[in-house]
Amino acid sequence: MNERRASANGVNDVSDVWRSKVLTLFPEMFPGPLGVSLAGQGLKDGLWSLETVNIRDHGVGRHATVDDAPFGGGPGMVMRPDVVDAVLNAAIQDAPDLPLLATSPRGAALTQRRVRELARGPGAIILCGRFEGLDQRVVETRNLEEVSIGDFILSGGEPAAITLIDACVRLLPGIMGKSESQTEESFENGLLEYPQFTRPQDWNGRSVPEVLLSGHHENIRNWRQAEAETITKTRRPDLWDRHQQTNAGST
Ligand code: SAH
Repeated sequence: MNERRASANGVNDVSDVWRSKVLTLFPEMFPGPLGVSLAGQGLKDGLWSLETVNIRDHGVGRHATVDDAPFGGGPGMVMRPDVVDAVLNAAIQDAPDLPLLATSPRGAALTQRRVRELARGPGAIILCGRFEGLDQRVVETRNLEEVSIGDFILSGGEPAAITLIDACVRLLPGIMGKSESQTEESFENGLLEYPQFTRPQDWNGRSVPEVLLSGHHENIRNWRQAEAETITKTRRPDLWDRHQQTNAGST
């Protein structure tokens, strides 16, 4: 039973579904990948909702301008604060409770922890930057939470918004089949996931680790834990250090 959608009298209340609102210059990019597979089915089933607001509709002047040259010179264009402010006003009108996020490579790196918090909440309004990004003043006056999806530069915030929404939506009740497939994954316990194997048992002259065929659940659990620790130490020493600190703190 999906509690999020059930109101006190047992009738589904649409205002209770996880809401995403994307503010973008390219609404045609949505739902895009969010319209297929798990997220797409959930969208069709009304387990979450997606709205877009076209930033261009709030542009200024005859040409609905949304950007201008940076003060101080330099390449590219900057999104105007008055335009961004107007689009935010429009977006929050019927969604005053949604957190305001802006995609930016200067933002805090998105983590599974933050994704989980957002998924537990009412939804998110996500502003997609373009050009060189937003005028800093509107970021500050609107207290936008800047979110980065990694240390690389996209041409615009839309793929970042899709990434963020996808990560949240798959955690919503009713989207994924088995709830344990959420808790054993990479990052959920501060470690990368152990390696996975499936049929055929012998493939290209390679078998699968013997322990996985043993049916001995404790041995399997121990093997997986050891593999997860090894791969985390090797590939992500930063995660490993944090994992060590967290464990030291909790004992
Ligand atoms: N000049 C900016 C980059 C602008 S890229 C800088 O150096 O910081 C244009 C837009 O794409 C950004 O405003 C942001 O909304 C989006 N974007 C680019 N890379 C991103 C990333 N790693 N994470 C999230 N959004 C990103």
